[in-house]
Amino acid sequence: VNFAFRLLGGDAEGPRLGLFTTPHGEVPTPAFMAVATRGMLRGISPAVLRPMGASIVLSNALHLFLRPGPETVRALGGIHGMLAWDGAVLTDSGGFQIFSLASLCRVTDAGVFYKDPVRGRILWTPEKAFEVQAALGPDIAMVLDHCPVEPTDKDLVAPAVARTLRWGRIQRDLHAARGGTASGQALFGIVQGGVFPDLREECARGLREMEFDGYAVGGVSLGEGPEAMMDSVRTTTARLPRDRVRYLMGVGSPRELVEAVARGIDLFDCVFPTRTGRFATALTWGGRLHLKNARFREDCAPIEPGCPCLSCQSEVPRGALRAGFLAGEFLPPILVSQHNLHFTLTLMGRIRESLQKGSFPALAAEIRGAYPGKTPGPPPGDAILEGSSPPIPGGAPSIRNPNR
Ligand SMILES: [Zn+2]
Repeated sequence: VNFAFRLLGGDAEGPRLGLFTTPHGEVPTPAFMAVATRGMLRGISPAVLRPMGASIVLSNALHLFLRPGPETVRALGGIHGMLAWDGAVLTDSGGFQIFSLASLCRVTDAGVFYKDPVRGRILWTPEKAFEVQAALGPDIAMVLDHCPVEPTDKDLVAPAVARTLRWGRIQRDLHAARGGTASGQALFGIVQGGVFPDLREECARGLREMEFDGYAVGGVSLGEGPEAMMDSVRTTTARLPRDRVRYLMGVGSPRELVEAVARGIDLFDCVFPTRTGRFATALTWGGRLHLKNARFREDCAPIEPGCPCLSCQSEVPRGALRAGFLAGEFLPPILVSQHNLHFTLTLMGRIRESLQKGSFPALAAEIRGAYPGKTPGPPPGDAILEGSSPPIPGGAPSIRNPNR
């Protein structure tokens, strides 16, 4: 079997425990994908990924198409060779990146015209996105969709849904002609629809009829606010088939991971852990730490005492990291990014364990305590299951809602 998704626990709309089998190994879900947009993780050696608990990595087809180009990637052993990673790989189609640079792009029914600073004007079409991903060789390819940058404007979102469905069908047909998952690659559809439940439903229904191998919730975390975002997630997962992987694109703060799992999401990607790390913010079980803060000047503790990650085990004191950040040294961003990714992957492991033991609500409460913020709590009607959980560490300041 090339691909299989086995649901090991959970229900249609609430938290789910699963096992996603790919040609490059098993992905226990809920899972977090470390981001290697240009074929390289930022400041993280591939050698430390497995020990951290990673099973799947994300890269970006459009970026790799532009630089170094699919021929070069193939010469390097395909996307797995380039990443030096033998686990599962998912590539995004690049639509989000284009649309987030609205001034550099123009959308037509054929595709998106994009002005690249180096390669000049290119037309990125559904056919091209599919063909490039087939050449790169990830385990999972994403469809090119139309992701409107303003998710609260119905006049923009409705045509984007229609286009997403039209492009989805083109790519589904190309995938079927290539043999579907027998080609060694799965293809996921992407549900758009902004903050509008009727459009989310229309898009989910249309994609579902096309029978994709998995489904993503796209077009979220674009400034619509945490409540509207979690409403969109719940609206969408409620309309997706139970036996397919559900992937929430570009979301990954500790709090959001927990809340989206509570709403039935299996897979995540986000630059949040590494980006916050580069900007001197450490994610810990007690909340986030701003390491440039003066209170860390003479702090001899590692980032998080007791943390088994390589950064904390190296015992570089917080005070030294602070001094290094202020001096523009490049080691501190690497050490804190590495700790944050380790933290995030450990959180996913704890989420899976809690789902197995029935203690997810206790873990969710712990994370809500450490990362208060505005992200809404349990979805309405969420079943409260009793179970054991580690003690809740001390409180911490709130975390901002990140974009990817
Ligand atoms: Zn650590």
